[in-house]
Amino acid sequence: MKNYDYLIVGAGLWGSVFAHEATNRGKKCLIVDRRTHTGGNVYCENIEGINVHKYGAHIFHTNDKEIWDYVNSFVEFNRYTNSPVANYNGALYNLPFNMNTFYQLWKVRTPEEAKAKIAEQVKEAGITDPQNLEEQAISLVGTDIYEKLIKAYTEKQWGRKATELPAFIIKRLPVRFTFDNNYFNDRYQGIPIGGYNKLTEGLLKGVDVKLGVDFFKDRAELEALAETIVYTGQIDEYFGFQHGQLEYRSLRFDNQLLDQENYQGNAVVNYTDGETPFTRIIEHKHFEFGTQPKTVITHEYPQEWSKGAEPYYPVNDDKNTEVFNKYKALAAEEKGVIFGGRLAEYRYYDMHQVIGSALKKVKVHFGE
Ligand code: FAD
Ligand code: UDP
Repeated sequence: MKNYDYLIVGAGLWGSVFAHEATNRGKKCLIVDRRTHTGGNVYCENIEGINVHKYGAHIFHTNDKEIWDYVNSFVEFNRYTNSPVANYNGALYNLPFNMNTFYQLWKVRTPEEAKAKIAEQVKEAGITDPQNLEEQAISLVGTDIYEKLIKAYTEKQWGRKATELPAFIIKRLPVRFTFDNNYFNDRYQGIPIGGYNKLTEGLLKGVDVKLGVDFFKDRAELEALAETIVYTGQIDEYFGFQHGQLEYRSLRFDNQLLDQENYQGNAVVNYTDGETPFTRIIEHKHFEFGTQPKTVITHEYPQEWSKGAEPYYPVNDDKNTEVFNKYKALAAEEKGVIFGGRLAEYRYYDMHQVIGSALKKVKVHFGE
């Protein structure tokens, strides 16, 4: 007899949703994380009454009513709408690319004028079948926007040439011929009132939690505790890097507490030039319309990932996809282990997609 039905490795959203759903089905779960807190990358730290998104700005958005109702059953969400501003050598532009941006760049006032300007630049670039991020970006918004708002930001963020990156990354951003600065097209959007910890704490009610535990340090002992392992860490690490290391992109966050009420007037300001070494400054209080006398800002510096650093983003290019597919084949053969999440599925997932993936896996696993 084992102590638990499930040992869940990783207390991020994927592991927490699985744990919650299994517990609701009468199963006994133990969740472990090598960090000293639950929540994975959505964890918030309270500084001077401000919920600081410790691992980068997190804005929840989804088109799926079921997922929206699901998260709202644990915590109420506010009406925050992400509208980042781009700073290019001191000039400010609205994001995502919309009529405000086109007006700021070209003084065009109508959608027809903006479309003509973009069409002219796309034609000049001669791209008909975009094969990489650069070609995709130019064919969507033309060369001016690519040069000022995309190229350098992208190359800083990923540490690779835009011609070596997959096109899908830039398709995350809407292009609109209306005066609408909403960064997302999804029907539902917001920030949990009181921070993301309320969501993860709600999910983990009734689940045994052990923190500061690295699965690979006590593997045999931990595996002996449960019938089934649910693994949400790096898939290459699980298999001892036998097919080589997958590449990730890491980040360094430099947090500052400032003795002023409002630093930049917006939660997110992107720095899209090549000389500024960081990609964005986050001012956390604006996610929750905070009125505290102080403010916390974070400069986000992209970094190359190496063993021991936090693997924030999978690099879904052809080379890594080929390696990942070998691990995926091993995972399919591994008995008694369920793999899921951004690191185990090696996918550039947003939070709603992680929750969707976990809920889907639960249904398949429990035969529903
Ligand atoms: P994680 O949150 O990474 O959780 C995995 C957990 O497993 C970690 O806590 C880790 O410590 C633990 N772990 C790994 N290996 C081991 C081990 N060997 N032993 C024990 N524990 C282990 N999504 C949005 O929807 N909107 C956004 O605005 C947004 N912004 C983002 C900004 C940044 C900078 C980043 C990096 C991501 C952003 N995301 C955003 C994506 C979001 O963070 C993820 O989709 C989601 O948090 C992933 O959940 P997960 O459970 O798969 O992984
Ligand atoms: N991007 C850009 N300029 C910007 C913002 C984003 O070129 O001002 C590109 C960049 O390649 C980035 C991608 O669009 O990696 C996706 O942006 P998003 O804001 O979704 O990235 P995330 O918040 O996941 O880091």
